[in-house]
Amino acid sequence: MNAVATPSVVCAADQRRIRYRYVQDLPEDPPRRVRVAIHNGFEGYWSTFTMTCSGCFSSVDGHPCGDYPTHPKHHCYVGSGCDECGYHGVRRERWFSPFDEAAYEAWIDEQWKAKNRGEA
Ligand SMILES: [Zn+2]
Repeated sequence: MNAVATPSVVCAADQRRIRYRYVQDLPEDPPRRVRVAIHNGFEGYWSTFTMTCSGCFSSVDGHPCGDYPTHPKHHCYVGSGCDECGYHGVRRERWFSPFDEAAYEAWIDEQWKAKNRGEA
């Protein structure tokens, strides 16, 4: 993934400096602007998306067990509703994408090894 830095802007509400970058997931995709976030000390950006609730949707090998409707906007199955999803059948999820994926993965690896050694 390529990331191109852009000038930062200052948030009018709380004077925090907000930075944006242009990222391009695939060479054939047009660049898109993302808001720079810091997570575990790494710069990257958050993506949010809607997905089928795992608490009230059952499937075998990716095929639904039962007659679940498809969400008109998000094109995923809508579960029958449960506590986990607030009886909506779908959930909002967040995913952090670091700009330096190799360094982030090395850090996660290190955390995992430290946890298995009983240090963390
Ligand atoms: Zn649910």
